[in-house]
Amino acid sequence: MTLDIPKLKQALNSRNGARLRMWLDICAHCGLCAQGCHFYQSDPRPEHVPAHRMKPMAEMLRKKGEVNEEFMQWLVDTVYGTCTMCQRCTMFCPYGIGIAFIVRATRALAVSQGLTPPGLASGLQNALDVGNNLGITDEEYRETIEWQLEELQEEMPNAVAPIDKKGAEVLVTFHPRDIKFYPQNLYGYLKLYNAAGLDFTLAGSKGWDSTNIGLFAGDDPAAAELCGRVVAAGENLGVRTILTAE
Ligand code: SF4
Ligand code: SF4
Repeated sequence: MTLDIPKLKQALNSRNGARLRMWLDICAHCGLCAQGCHFYQSDPRPEHVPAHRMKPMAEMLRKKGEVNEEFMQWLVDTVYGTCTMCQRCTMFCPYGIGIAFIVRATRALAVSQGLTPPGLASGLQNALDVGNNLGITDEEYRETIEWQLEELQEEMPNAVAPIDKKGAEVLVTFHPRDIKFYPQNLYGYLKLYNAAGLDFTLAGSKGWDSTNIGLFAGDDPAAAELCGRVVAAGENLGVRTILTAE
C-alpha cells in the first residue's frame, strides 16, 4: 500500500465541516449508542460500540492527514465490515450524533487511497458497468419478472408488470437481491402494486437498482452517477414518483 498524502489531505479537507467537528467534539463517551447497534448487541466487544467508529476520523484530523499505511489499515478495518450505516445508534445517542455520517466521511478517505474493500469495490464496479450491484444481466432481470408475473397471474389473472411504460405514475425500483436471491419479494411487490391499482412501471436495463452502493462505499462520484441513472430513468419515462423498495 502506497499512500498519496496530498490526495488524502484533499479528501480530508472536503469532509472537515463544522457539523462533523462538532459531533466529534461533543461525544461524551457514554456508550449509550451501543444499545442501538446490532453488531454490538450480537457481539458486545468494545470495538463494536458505535462511538469507536468515529476514532479514525478524530485521529486523522488530529494528525492533519499525516498518517502511515498501518493507520489506514486500522481505519479501513474500523469503518467497513461492522457498520451498515443504519443510523440506529443515532436514535440512542443523547446528542443525536450522526455516526453513520462520520463513517461515510471516513470511508471517503479510504476511497481516496483506493482502499475500498474488494467485495464492496467489485459490487460497485458491477453497478457502474452492468447497472446493478449483483451484476444481473438484462436477460436474467426480465426473465425473473416474467416468471414472477406468471406465478402472480395464477392468483390475479389481470396482474401486470410493465417495463419502461411511458407516462406511468410511479417508477418502482428494488434491491437486486430481490431478483437474484429472493424473487418471492418481487412477487410480493407486484401483488401489492396490482392490488392497490397503482399505475406503475419497472425500469429497463438501467435505473432499477434501488441500492446506491457508491453512497455506501463512500465514493461520491460513483454515488452521484448511480443516483443520476435512477432519476434519468424516471425522467425519461415521465413518471411523477420514484419508489424505492429497500
Ligand atoms: S451515545 Fe453519543 S455521546 Fe454517547 S458515546 Fe455514543 S456517540 Fe458518544
Ligand atoms: S450506523 Fe453503524 S454503528 Fe450505528 S447502529 Fe448502524 S451499524 Fe451500528
